[in-house]
Amino acid sequence: MKDEYSGNAEMICPVCNSKIFEYDDENLKGFIKCLRCNKIYSRNALLKANKKNIPVEVNQIKNKVASKFVNDFKKILKKNVGYNKKFK
Ligand SMILES: [Zn+2]
Repeated sequence: MKDEYSGNAEMICPVCNSKIFEYDDENLKGFIKCLRCNKIYSRNALLKANKKNIPVEVNQIKNKVASKFVNDFKKILKKNVGYNKKFK
């Protein structure tokens, strides 16, 4: 049964990012339960969630937003530094 795990496309729990699930191999319409956060998914819901929320993609978007924020913050910082210098 261990081969069953490694052979399948890897599923990740969209709630806690765990890869360990409990499910019934003989019942494909059964539910899949995340063993870390105990959330229960239908097989389809979990598949959809994994197609939408691939963690790497999410991180890339986050990094883009973060770097934009850092750039904006630097601009603000520069303005403030220039402003402070006038007072010295
Ligand atoms: Zn989970």
